[in-house]
Amino acid sequence: MPELPEVETIRSGLEVSVMGGQVRSVEVIHTGSIKEVTIARFRRTLAGATLSSFDRRGKFLIISLDVSDALIVDFRMTGQLIHEGDQGVLPPHTHVVFRMVGGTRLRFTDTRKFGSIRLVRADQVCNHPALSKLGVDAMGDDLTTGHLANLTAASKRPIKQLLMDQRRIAGIGNIYASEILFHAGIHPQTEASSLKPEAIRILRSSIRHILRVAIRRCGTTMRDFRTASGGYGNYQNEFRVYARENRPCRRCATPVVRIRQHGRSTFFCPQCQQAE
Ligand SMILES: [Zn+2]
Repeated sequence: MPELPEVETIRSGLEVSVMGGQVRSVEVIHTGSIKEVTIARFRRTLAGATLSSFDRRGKFLIISLDVSDALIVDFRMTGQLIHEGDQGVLPPHTHVVFRMVGGTRLRFTDTRKFGSIRLVRADQVCNHPALSKLGVDAMGDDLTTGHLANLTAASKRPIKQLLMDQRRIAGIGNIYASEILFHAGIHPQTEASSLKPEAIRILRSSIRHILRVAIRRCGTTMRDFRTASGGYGNYQNEFRVYARENRPCRRCATPVVRIRQHGRSTFFCPQCQQAE
């Protein structure tokens, strides 16, 4: 599932390859991928529109059109947005194709079909229900140590769950939550409100460090994630604990442990991340 580093990788890739490009026509193959507008209106609005900017909020990609509209792309589990030459057959699970003036195409592919593209008015983007409830962006200036301290103080939940709560901090999912907590030396089941000021300071710096390195490595490709040019992410080669159950901790050689938290797998080192 694309998390902040993967969506940022797609965003920056598209910014380089297709920003300012003009859409010639749109083909909608799976109508369920388009939300909130009719397919006719979607195709009509996009035909001739310029993709004027690419922004990110948490795990959402926002594509501004030159007209007063914007697209909100939600990748969910398996969504991909790939810019490529417009030749050859469309790969399986291609649901929407934006054909660009100049002979390229932007292809939305989504095996599991949970993802979507919404067409909204540009001035409604911030207030849109998909975005308005998001917490501070995990890479944004608003995630200060003070803000993180307020969030942890107000939560009785395990810190890992708080990190993944998009209404509190937007962008962190299951993979990076485990990696961040390992980097910070914090046990994933630690009650958020019990974290001391020093641990919160370290946690904030670990969030930035892990996400920044992951962006530099073009995100993580376990199965589905592809960059905007169809390439692979590389951060899976940097994993310290994620998907490494029973393998030696890279820091202390203690076998990495996997537990279930809130229905999701959490990986940690019981030596490096001791419960308080
Ligand atoms: Zn260890």
